[in-house]
Amino acid sequence: MSVREYDVIVVGAGPAGATAAFHLGAAGQRVLVLEKERLPRHKPCAGGVPTSVLRRFPVDFSPVVERAVRRVRFRFADGREVAADLPQGAVVTVRRDRFDHYLVSQARAEVRDDAPVADIRQDDTGVEAVLASGEAIRARYLILADGANSRLARRVGLRREIGSDLLWGLQWAPFFYAHPRVSFEWGVRNPLFLREFLRLFAWRTTYRAMALRAPFLVVLGALCCRKPEAHHDRASEP
Ligand SMILES: Cc1cc2nc3c(=O)[nH]c(=O)nc-3n(C[C@H](O)[C@H](O)[C@H](O)COP(=O)(O)OP(=O)(O)OC[C@H]3O[C@@H](n4cnc5c(N)ncnc54)[C@H](O)[C@@H]3O)c2cc1C
Repeated sequence: MSVREYDVIVVGAGPAGATAAFHLGAAGQRVLVLEKERLPRHKPCAGGVPTSVLRRFPVDFSPVVERAVRRVRFRFADGREVAADLPQGAVVTVRRDRFDHYLVSQARAEVRDDAPVADIRQDDTGVEAVLASGEAIRARYLILADGANSRLARRVGLRREIGSDLLWGLQWAPFFYAHPRVSFEWGVRNPLFLREFLRLFAWRTTYRAMALRAPFLVVLGALCCRKPEAHHDRASEP
């Protein structure tokens, strides 16, 4: 087992991990990014990015920008639609395989792909990422950026199931309230949009709660459906 030392290990080379690596590298930290997939990796995503986000990086993103978005339209299952024109140049689309890879390659960091982290160990002097291969890599700090369904966060006790639904809901809240057009045209003035959001949130929470309680419900169901035992009442015997 080899042990090497960095200031920060970042697990995951998606936009979150790449952004952390970018800023830490620019601040002079020795950064290692560990990505489980081989890069560039495919990511199912609509690929819409506000250009206000891109402007936060001193990087020319034109090599990975596909299109400018002028109008967005949301269509609900029952056929209703909400549409809005966007200010010119406000949103662009990217392909996530190219965009994510480009972003992480702009970071002043060592990037290792095909390197799934299987476990994390921590002691008083730092933290250790243990790869699936058994290799252990040490750093002073470790950032988990392994996606919305981070198994590692659960493994080290940073995430509990009950809070994750709330976090999932909250991560979309800025989308509804921060952008003035969304806030006024879809969020506040048009309650339809907010209602659909709440319905989705409620569905997900209920579904996950049911999944967690499935064994309990099966036992409960079995007990309820059991035929009542014949009750022999001696007092009523002739
Ligand atoms: C269908 C769909 C459409 C979407 N459309 C949009 C959109 O238009 N605009 C938008 O802004 N967002 C969109 N999103 C959301 C967007 O994809 C996420 O917000 C974004 O990917 C989160 O970035 P991240 O870096 O946190 O995680 P991710 O992009 O998921 O990156 C996590 C990385 O960690 C790696 N990893 C996981 N486990 C390990 C491990 N154990 N060891 C090492 N590496 C690991 C993964 O391989 C992955 O590369 C969409 C999502 C979906 C599902």
